[in-house]
Amino acid sequence: MKKPVIGITPAHNTENDDISFRPTYVNAILHAGGLPLPLPLHGSHEDRVQLLSLCDGLLLSGGPDPHPFLFGEDTQLHCQNVSPLRDEMELDLLDLALKARMPILGICRGIQIINVGLGGTLYQDIPSQVSSGFPIAHKQPFHYHIPSHHVRITEGTRLSQIAGDSRLQVNSMHHQAVRDPAPGLMVSAVADDGLIEALEKPDYPFLLGVQWHPEYLWEKDPAAARLFLAFTESCR
Ligand code: MN
Repeated sequence: MKKPVIGITPAHNTENDDISFRPTYVNAILHAGGLPLPLPLHGSHEDRVQLLSLCDGLLLSGGPDPHPFLFGEDTQLHCQNVSPLRDEMELDLLDLALKARMPILGICRGIQIINVGLGGTLYQDIPSQVSSGFPIAHKQPFHYHIPSHHVRITEGTRLSQIAGDSRLQVNSMHHQAVRDPAPGLMVSAVADDGLIEALEKPDYPFLLGVQWHPEYLWEKDPAAARLFLAFTESCR
């Protein structure tokens, strides 16, 4: 049987314009039965139309902060590096994939790009914009393979089917987060401090964004492995 081809968006080094792909994404997709296809950063809209026609699904990977202009804000003091080129490339691909009703998985920056692309907003910096009596380390102080906080899964969502539980242990390496979910998106997981950790689109074949990094967890965590399986299966 032919494997579904999953386009993966690249990391962009804004100092020297290099692009790169973490093997974690590639291995997670391979293990789930998909064929990862690293996508270039440069190219025209027409090039992206053709490239996406080679894909059965789109994985929006982790990375730097989306530019605040994308959700109508000026740059807050603690916003970090941005890549306008990657913003443009990923928002274009998101739009094309949505029009094709292609399955989409967003990881970390990916959930933020999905939310911004569909009209939602972000916290530019959690520590300076969100106060909590028990501040959760959304930038965890230890390795990504080790979970650091819990998320509560919304009942009846696609994510709850995948997770098979109402609570998941996740890792966390973000300083930004979804603030207002975009119209049409449903919150499918929140952290105990109330921050949104997953979004999905109910009236769509498969559109799921997670704020954590299941690509570092799937080898030990069956729920993280099922997330990649559910995604690649929906791409067949
Ligand atoms: Mn988190």
